[in-house]
Amino acid sequence: MRLPARRQAAAPKRRCGVGYALGLEEVANPVDVLQLDMSGRPQAWITPREAAVVYASDGVAWTLGRAFHVLRGGIQRATGLQSRIEVHPIIAVKGAVPSRAWRQTPALSNPKLFVRDRHVCAYCGRRFAFDLLTREHVIPVSRGGRDTWMNCITACRGCNGRKGNRLPEEARMSLMYLPYIPSLHEDMILRGRRILTDQMEFLLASVPRSSRLHA
Ligand SMILES: [Zn+2]
Repeated sequence: MRLPARRQAAAPKRRCGVGYALGLEEVANPVDVLQLDMSGRPQAWITPREAAVVYASDGVAWTLGRAFHVLRGGIQRATGLQSRIEVHPIIAVKGAVPSRAWRQTPALSNPKLFVRDRHVCAYCGRRFAFDLLTREHVIPVSRGGRDTWMNCITACRGCNGRKGNRLPEEARMSLMYLPYIPSLHEDMILRGRRILTDQMEFLLASVPRSSRLHA
């Protein structure tokens, strides 16, 4: 994590050389912690502060990766020492594992759809900024197409307008890539804001080779 120069100068470096003592101050754009359940299934991205609450309540079952955050709290009356929590990039929380959790389909959203398709229009094959992209229904909704991962593709505004209310074959516009449903691990990558190497390695290890994220 990059900190403003004055913070870097002021913050004591830790022995292992990663991270800085951040106290409980808010950082402008903190890296999130990947929360798993006991079986290793990704559950959510949480802030280091939220992770600290899990640590403090003895809710962490196991961790992965090197600690990247140190949160400092108040002075403990009994010991006179300042409380200190090292936050790891990946934490598994104690508790029951819902048996059906692995089968859930991730929710569809435009930001995730555009990342799945690497911001490339499925019709013209060009890459666009977020604002110029649209969620395009391969089978139009007005003709019975569903708003699902398998019927949605990323398209630029121009191509979406040109295709209009037609099927790709009617419009003579072929798809340059196919839609697919992201796995749970892939969904976490699509949702992540800034993903640390440890987190990316963990998630990518479970993403099918067919995913565009490997491209
Ligand atoms: Zn296009």
